[in-house]
Amino acid sequence: MKVIQTISDLRTARAALGDDVGVVTTMGALHAGHMALVKQARFDNERVLVTIFVNPTQFGPDEDLGSYPRTLERDLQLLETAGVDVVFTPTPELMYPDGYQTYVDVENVSQRLEGIHRDGHFRGVATVVSKLFNMTQPARAYFGQKDAQQVVVIRRMVRDLNFPVDVIVVPTIREDDGLAMSSRNAYLSPQEREAATVLYRSLQAAATLYDNSERHPEKLRQAMWAALNSEPLATVDYVSAADVLTLDELQSPTDAPILLSLTVQIGKPRLLDNLLLPAHLNTVTGLTATLGAE
Ligand code: AMP
Repeated sequence: MKVIQTISDLRTARAALGDDVGVVTTMGALHAGHMALVKQARFDNERVLVTIFVNPTQFGPDEDLGSYPRTLERDLQLLETAGVDVVFTPTPELMYPDGYQTYVDVENVSQRLEGIHRDGHFRGVATVVSKLFNMTQPARAYFGQKDAQQVVVIRRMVRDLNFPVDVIVVPTIREDDGLAMSSRNAYLSPQEREAATVLYRSLQAAATLYDNSERHPEKLRQAMWAALNSEPLATVDYVSAADVLTLDELQSPTDAPILLSLTVQIGKPRLLDNLLLPAHLNTVTGLTATLGAE
């Protein structure tokens, strides 16, 4: 496995990989969720390239850029064991040198959900992902359902800017009690960690209603609210039942797929989770065909 830090070394290594390359972009502190993306990329492609970069432009001024967990040695061991060919670990100075002034702004879908609470976040994400796509030239790029809005934003960008990349969406990997794996779960105290199971329980409550033929999005949102309100440590940022392409809140009953999502603050971290309805769509095939897809 080659570990690379400069653009010229990346160009050389990338050229040697051939055409059939899958890319997984990460901020490191790797866990089983990231490794599911790597595994899928390994399965689909001749070669796999992973990027590790804690991207400053997607953090707000009050967010955890300075304290974001960095575990490079361990990350590299995990990637080597998983059969990754190349890891690119650029510095912030390489990605955003003095005089840097070009950004990618995906308009409407960036302003929904997380966008309302994290000004500029998706501008940072779209910018760094477009730079990484240009540098690594993937045939396929892998993104986690965990960050469903990110998938919708990136897919919009890929279509709008004609990137020759297939975006593949990998289902959320969870702890045994349902909590979606996240590097930020490490910030939770034991009591908060227990309370954090409320996110998945709340999605399940809405999914059960849906299974019982409830198709009114407001009823699904109410079911999520009811479950969340039972947890005193949870402060809700938003609860949503939205269109899978526009991320607009749905207002009337529909048989089309629905993206349930929610963000809750428990202790220090904001925790995100989501589920696609109908629930059988929460697979690589179902998500890739549906979430952010036209
Ligand atoms: P991050 O390092 O947090 O930027 O995440 C890198 C990629 O891993 C993103 O595409 C995330 O959506 C994905 N990811 C993070 N957590 C999970 C998870 N629990 N299950 C599946 N994918 C995940």
